[in-house]
Amino acid sequence: MENKCMICGREATVRNIGADALLFKCSSCGEIAIAGRVQTALLKEPQEVLSKLSRLLAEHRLESNDKLFLVGGGEGRQKDFLLVDYKELLKHYPRDTAEILDRSLLNLSRMVSHPSHEIQITEDLKEVFFAENGMPYYTFAVSLQIGDS
Ligand SMILES: [Zn+2]
Repeated sequence: MENKCMICGREATVRNIGADALLFKCSSCGEIAIAGRVQTALLKEPQEVLSKLSRLLAEHRLESNDKLFLVGGGEGRQKDFLLVDYKELLKHYPRDTAEILDRSLLNLSRMVSHPSHEIQITEDLKEVFFAENGMPYYTFAVSLQIGDS
């Protein structure tokens, strides 16, 4: 089994959790289970859909302790998991630049425990800022003084 997250492509631990569902532990997407049918569907999706999902999952990891189980329909709970249809999840993608900025700043605030704490904005955090790559946000963060000077 390949040790890669099937959403963002990062190195991840992958484990079979029964039926044909896989559990991915990814540093960006968090801990997510994906049903077999959904794995098949995701493999057919264009890269853009996977990129959007990876950003939504990174946001979810920061805002909630709920582990997601991507299923082919329906919702609810199953043991530790919140069942989510990934197509429903995609509907929560930010609609415009203003919303991207709002949600990026909220994500940033979730990463700092105190306003004067420094945070390194790296390429690896690009999903948290809904970005294609980390550079625009790196520049943004460098010019943004986070602190109570
Ligand atoms: Zn991932």
